[in-house]
Amino acid sequence: MAAEEKSLVIIGAGFAGLAAGIYGRLNGYKTRIFEMHNLPGGLCTSWNRKGYTFDACIHWLVGSSPDSPHNEMWKTVGIARNREFVYADEYARCEGADGRTVIFHSDIDRLEQHLLELSPQDEQTIREFTGGIRMCNKFRFPADNEPFFTRLGKLMGIFFFFMFKGKKFKKWTAVTGEAFADRFKDPLLKDAFRQIWIPEFSMLFMLFTFAYLHQRNAGYPIGGSMPMSKALEARYLELGGVINYNSRVARILTEDGKVTGIRLVDGTEVPADRVISAADGHATLFEMLEGNYLDEKTREPYEKWPTFHSLLFISLGVNRRFDELPLTVSGISFPLKEPVQLADRMRERLPVHIYNQDPTLAPEGKTAITIMLESDYDYWKRLAEDRNKYLQTKEDIVSQVIMLLEQRFPGISEQVEVTDVATPMTFERYTGNWKGSFEGWLITPENAYTMTRPMSQTLPGLKNFYMCGQWVEPGGGLPTSILSGRRLIQTICKEDGIRFRRS
Ligand SMILES: Cc1cc2nc3c(=O)[nH]c(=O)nc-3n(C[C@H](O)[C@H](O)[C@H](O)COP(=O)(O)OP(=O)(O)OC[C@H]3O[C@@H](n4cnc5c(N)ncnc54)[C@H](O)[C@@H]3O)c2cc1C
Repeated sequence: MAAEEKSLVIIGAGFAGLAAGIYGRLNGYKTRIFEMHNLPGGLCTSWNRKGYTFDACIHWLVGSSPDSPHNEMWKTVGIARNREFVYADEYARCEGADGRTVIFHSDIDRLEQHLLELSPQDEQTIREFTGGIRMCNKFRFPADNEPFFTRLGKLMGIFFFFMFKGKKFKKWTAVTGEAFADRFKDPLLKDAFRQIWIPEFSMLFMLFTFAYLHQRNAGYPIGGSMPMSKALEARYLELGGVINYNSRVARILTEDGKVTGIRLVDGTEVPADRVISAADGHATLFEMLEGNYLDEKTREPYEKWPTFHSLLFISLGVNRRFDELPLTVSGISFPLKEPVQLADRMRERLPVHIYNQDPTLAPEGKTAITIMLESDYDYWKRLAEDRNKYLQTKEDIVSQVIMLLEQRFPGISEQVEVTDVATPMTFERYTGNWKGSFEGWLITPENAYTMTRPMSQTLPGLKNFYMCGQWVEPGGGLPTSILSGRRLIQTICKEDGIRFRRS
């Protein structure tokens, strides 16, 4: 059968679902996406409040540089077209109570020099860190559009890279952010490294992030997340794909170990030759498939692996500019005069992301700022059982946060004109992600093997069913979600004996 006659039903119009749709259409499949929300993008989203745009996702997009191997993919899926990127000179700033500030420069040499000046006693750890970034900086993936021999050369380069640096690579994969932070003697550096990376997350990804920042290949797209999601949707529609919004899938229908279609929450049944779930992994396996196709390997992550934490996400529209502050990728963190209980835990610092790199997010002369705090899903789930209490807690928290910001930005409480609080329940409600997680599975030393042996995109005993997206790609992120949709369509083409077209 020709691909065009075969139907792919895709659940979810996040980056992975739209990527599966785009590559499906590029390879001649009839595709139809069912999305429960009324907008594309899933977690890659933002919302407007009284002239301000509060962005819930993009800090950096790996592959933003036209010289990057990922860039061709961003062109194919419509993201890189007419997009302006900003390259901040700093990843983040961490201010200390002693008046010193740790500046995480994007440039490796400046970063190294600055850290050494701050804490000469930590020279060995600092040089290990910057040496790790330099190692990742040498790593070059082949690009889709490169000539065969260039690609071959790069693949051989990767082979030799692993032959000579494989041990170092492995060593970094096994070090968590917390374990590395603990190596510093200087308390401010220790604290700063704890602030900028998730404690359980492998350090290797921090090294790659800094290598990409150094290469100016992890830019912030002006306009933020939603314009990128809309560009992806536009590309999919331009290729002839179909999307049904406000269409929540309740069940994936099966018969004799084979998928036959889906059923929506309103009872509508849609037949399909193949079904791809690009939605939350837990809901897919335990609800849509009712836990019927689980072996030990499929179950393991849901029982053992840690997820990216759920978030308390506070957004403020402020009637002032912050010209005195540098542009940063992920903001500044300042110490509170004394620890404060905010929601489920005590906080000693407040991280603030000031969107002074993107004037499109606020009216002239004003600024959108966000405060992203880890917060426990179960705490909010319990609170949400009493709607009034839940809403009151959100209100109390925003007032508390504004008062805390006064410590660093005197007068700000008079300048705040819009407030918004999203909790783990908000992330769950709008995207369906398990426990409100914002990026799926963390890569830890225990599951680092998935970097070379990817998770399966199929289930044992169920034909014509597939998964893509952050729940089958530990580490998550936007490029990974696109690559996940692409990897899947490549597999499906192989099953059908079709030569895969990637652009
Ligand atoms: C605060 C924050 C900061 C981030 N920063 C970055 C960053 O700087 N760089 C980066 O690369 N990544 C970042 N990410 C991560 C990135 O956004 C995600 O990893 C990525 O968007 C996941 O895409 P996905 O398609 O796999 O999943 P999702 O975006 O979760 O898409 C799943 C889709 O399925 C839909 N769905 C779920 N259940 C159903 C159902 N039953 N029926 C129909 N539809 C359903 C959902 O509504 C959603 O649209 C960030 C995320 C957050 C929240």
